[in-house]
Amino acid sequence: MFEVRYTDLAARIGRLETPHGAVETPAFVPVVHPVKQTIAPQFLKKMGFDLVITNAYITLKQYGDEARKRGIHDIIGFDGAVMTDSGGYQVLEYGSVEVEPADMAQFEKDIKSDIPIPLDKPTGYGLPYELAKEYVGTTLANCDTTLRTVGKTDAIWIGPVQGAEHFDLVEHSARALDDMGFQMMALGSPVELMEAYEFATLARMIAHAKKAIPAKPVHLFGAGHPLTIPLAIALGCDTFDSASYMLYAKDDRYMHANGTVRLGELAYLPCQCAVCASYTASELRSLDRDRRMVEVARHNLHVLKAEVDATKQAIMDGRLWEYVMQKARAHPKLMEAVQLFANDEFGYLAEGTPAFKEKAIFFFDAIDQHRPEARRYRKLVSEFASRKKSLVLFPEGEVHPFYSTRGFREIAKKFPDAQIATYNPFLGIIPAEISDVFPASHNVTARAERDVADYPTFVESLTGFVANNGFSDIMAVADPFMKQAIAEAKLKARVEDYSDHVIERL
Ligand SMILES: [Zn+2]
Repeated sequence: MFEVRYTDLAARIGRLETPHGAVETPAFVPVVHPVKQTIAPQFLKKMGFDLVITNAYITLKQYGDEARKRGIHDIIGFDGAVMTDSGGYQVLEYGSVEVEPADMAQFEKDIKSDIPIPLDKPTGYGLPYELAKEYVGTTLANCDTTLRTVGKTDAIWIGPVQGAEHFDLVEHSARALDDMGFQMMALGSPVELMEAYEFATLARMIAHAKKAIPAKPVHLFGAGHPLTIPLAIALGCDTFDSASYMLYAKDDRYMHANGTVRLGELAYLPCQCAVCASYTASELRSLDRDRRMVEVARHNLHVLKAEVDATKQAIMDGRLWEYVMQKARAHPKLMEAVQLFANDEFGYLAEGTPAFKEKAIFFFDAIDQHRPEARRYRKLVSEFASRKKSLVLFPEGEVHPFYSTRGFREIAKKFPDAQIATYNPFLGIIPAEISDVFPASHNVTARAERDVADYPTFVESLTGFVANNGFSDIMAVADPFMKQAIAEAKLKARVEDYSDHVIERL
């Protein structure tokens, strides 16, 4: 049902098989209104959206038996895969809906939804713990009723994970749905988190859900801002829906890769989609309201699609970490979220990160010391056993691996009995013998003055390496960073400044 082809961090390029065709993931899932949709769903298909989501509750209210007879694909005019939400959003907005979970489940089965969602009771955001727990309980009971009602079907039933910022409830909810046999999960209602730009809480919520259900495909509700797409994908979300393309268009907001801008503020159209290629900014602005709304919505869809595709290409290139960090620069709240990757809570990002990458990885800022490849390398070094009594540390040059450099050969000649190692602020200590192991020889590091206080993993690598191997004599050809680290680690070492002829002087 779900096949994974490539991974990087917790992101995966996969294939989701539905009764109405396969969907390549990660995928943006446009919201289609079952009654007043202005952009034809078949047009969405032509743009490359193979999966759309529509509301089964509104469909039931508006069409009833006619929908049962015609099926949801005919009702909305779409021959690809259709996901149906069952009114959870209405519950969130208006408190309750006038339908029982079992009836809703039967209806979604009758209209042949490919990926139906049971009637849930979203916790939203900011609900007191006890109440959130009660809502989670109600949702789980509804989900149980749903599976009993529909029996075995070809559809992929989604388990709606609730709990929001109460992370233990998120984990409990995800595990319970997994046990019930749901094949796909959806993370409930981060709409308020998104609107408040609470990306850090959103990221933690996703991390906790993924901890409970690492393998199954995950849908994220309401993620329709181009900024959040790479983050959500990197954290392991496979599909995400939103009506943002239309809601923004109604509000004359034009999306771009890093956010949105009011149409009135645009002097130029920084995009080459079919819409932007046929108007100037002022022409687009002077269209009548209905026409303008459709054109801006089409452009917005293009931006969302382009963002998903750019993220997918980053996965293929093994550069998803770089891409997410680059996007994080677009908003401080997003930066706040990616800084959390330093925490153990996000250790699961390592699981999908390949052990070897064709392309060199890039190191820029302190956060990059926490990328999975660097963590993995430091762990390898922490298990490295040297039989030597003395240690010589030498700064890393541009040439990799270290043992192939002239500097290494000269030191080896002069100190045949010493353990020789180089060092890198992001990778820590690099023993010459394993200086060709990825990514010690497959990285490009931005040269900069760095404060060792920002690199706790480096000091840990240095102290660990010395302690594990019990070196009695340490000599460090030290750059200012290494000098700081030696002081910080309170190591007894002979320290030499680096210069062109330093080896001759030693
Ligand atoms: Zn455009």
